[in-house]
Amino acid sequence: MKNKIVIAIDGHSSCGKSTVAKDLAKALSIAYIDTGAMYRAVTLFALRKGLISDGKVDEKTLIENLPQLEITFDFNAQLKRNETFLNGENVESEIRNLAVSNSVSIISAIGAVRRQLVEWQRLMGDKISVVMDGRDIGTVVFPNADLKIFMTASDEVRAQRRFDELTAKGQKVDFEEILNNVRERDRIDSTRAESPLRKADDALLLDNSQMTMQEQFDWIMDKLRQRNLI
Ligand code: C5P
Repeated sequence: MKNKIVIAIDGHSSCGKSTVAKDLAKALSIAYIDTGAMYRAVTLFALRKGLISDGKVDEKTLIENLPQLEITFDFNAQLKRNETFLNGENVESEIRNLAVSNSVSIISAIGAVRRQLVEWQRLMGDKISVVMDGRDIGTVVFPNADLKIFMTASDEVRAQRRFDELTAKGQKVDFEEILNNVRERDRIDSTRAESPLRKADDALLLDNSQMTMQEQFDWIMDKLRQRNLI
C-alpha cells in the first residue's frame, strides 16, 4: 500500500457517499472525514443564533463568529459511528434533521464559509491517509487526490434512501418533501458561484442507482488495486 493516500468522493445529495466512504476507511484502516457534516454544523450554529430568516443569512455576523467555531469528530465505540461535535457538544443527530438540510445549501454557498472549512479539511488530510466525502474534494480541497470518485444515482432512488434512513430513525417524514429537498440541494450546489458541485475531469463516474453497497465497495477497491494504491 502507498504510504499516504487521499481518496476523494464527491457527488449528489443522498447518493450513499458517506456509507461507502466509511466502509472504505474501515477496510483500509484510514480516517474518514465527512465534510458535509462540517457545513451542517455551521448551519446548525447559524440557525441557533437566529442568523437565517426567510432564506436570507446574516453573513456578517456568521463570518465574525466562524473563527470561534470548533468542529471535531470522535468515534463512538458503542454506536460504532463517527460523531460530529460543535464546540464540544455532540450534534450528530441534530445536524441530520430537515431544518438543517433545508438551510445547509445557502450556508455552503457563502465564500468565506467555504474558505474556512476548506482550510480545516486540508489540515485534516495533510499528514494522514483519508477518505473524504463532499462536493468539492476532488476539484478544490485535494485536486491531487490519488483516487477521485464522482457518485450519483437517480433523484427518486436517492430520495427513497433518505426517506428509509429517516423513517428507520423514527422520524415522521414526507417523501415528496425529501425529494424536493434532494433536488433543491443539487440545484443550489451545482449552480453556486463558489466551487460548484461538478465532476473533476479525472474523477471516475459511479452511478449506483442499480448497485448494492457491496458492489460499490468492490468497484472502488478494484480501482485502488489497479492503481497500486493498496
Ligand atoms: O453531504 P451532505 O449531504 O451531508 O452535505 C450537506 C450539504 O453541505 C450539501 O448539500 C452541500 O450544500 C454542502 N457541502 C458542500 N461541500 C462539501 C460538502 C457538503 O458544499 N464538501
